[in-house]
Amino acid sequence: MKEITAKIQETAARLLTEGRVDIFIGWQKGEFGYNTKPFFAHSPEEADKLVFDEYSIHNLSNALLKFRDGHQKIGIVVKGCDSRGIVRLLEDNQFKRERLYIVGVCCPGMKDPLKKMYQDSGFAVQVNGDAELADKCRYCIQPNPVIYDELIGEKREPRLPEDRFKEVKELETKSYDERYQFFEQVLSTCIRCYACRQACVACNCRTCIFDETRPQWVGRETSISDNMMYHLVRAFHMAGRCVECGECERVCPVGIPLMLINRKLIKDVGEFFGPYEAGMEYKEGAKPPLSVYREDDPDDFI
Ligand code: SF4
Ligand code: SF4
Ligand code: SF4
Repeated sequence: MKEITAKIQETAARLLTEGRVDIFIGWQKGEFGYNTKPFFAHSPEEADKLVFDEYSIHNLSNALLKFRDGHQKIGIVVKGCDSRGIVRLLEDNQFKRERLYIVGVCCPGMKDPLKKMYQDSGFAVQVNGDAELADKCRYCIQPNPVIYDELIGEKREPRLPEDRFKEVKELETKSYDERYQFFEQVLSTCIRCYACRQACVACNCRTCIFDETRPQWVGRETSISDNMMYHLVRAFHMAGRCVECGECERVCPVGIPLMLINRKLIKDVGEFFGPYEAGMEYKEGAKPPLSVYREDDPDDFI
């Protein structure tokens, strides 16, 4: 990873010196070994702070939303999942391709900082799953950037489980009532902090329905019906658009299995409209399924 870090620093310094970008987005080291966080370099000198290590897990494409209304040219480092997020933003007309200089890094898979923190805490906390590979990376179908101006590193093979939809299929064997009870139980713990929305590159509406107060579509309290409403609406908005970066589930403070919902959507969209995987390539003007409507559509609007 040291060579990748050196290459990223060199590239960022060059782009900032030549004035080809105004800001370069990457990662910097935080206070602890497991803490690597997004960083915005504004000068060639600041490029020295950029790093790439096993905790460069954040999907940086989401950070572009801060700049969508500006004119700055942005350099950005992307792994496979971040690059799919960039395709999401381009398809959603949230960013212009010509404002971006994309530096792709073929991703070896990341570790989950939270699991490492638990391990190092000194408390007897049970760490679920693999501390060496983040859950989102266990299911990653594309570790290599799908869109870039220059690429760092050799392309890598995905490390997928035998059946990526195993848990979804298990859920599908249950009756509708059993599924309802399952979701009622897991969503009852949601504290509606909206961290999943904030971390999501596909949640890019300027005004979110859940922030509106006139009319107030969903109550503020964390009752099960309001929680269900939140997750149902988000599921509708993610169908065909979720790029499977796993950030929503990773940041959820109460461990709600959000990727189970997202993978069900991905499986269904693939079966009904596909084969299709969101954000895997960028074709100008292309739109994901469920985001266009024609008058001769065989189905009614709703
Ligand atoms: S999801 Fe894929 S591209 Fe993203 S960090 Fe994990 S292995 Fe890398
Ligand atoms: S991050 Fe978790 S607790 Fe917060 S709103 Fe999303 S699902 Fe609920
Ligand atoms: S719903 Fe979750 S997995 Fe899908 S794009 Fe948003 S943050 Fe990534």
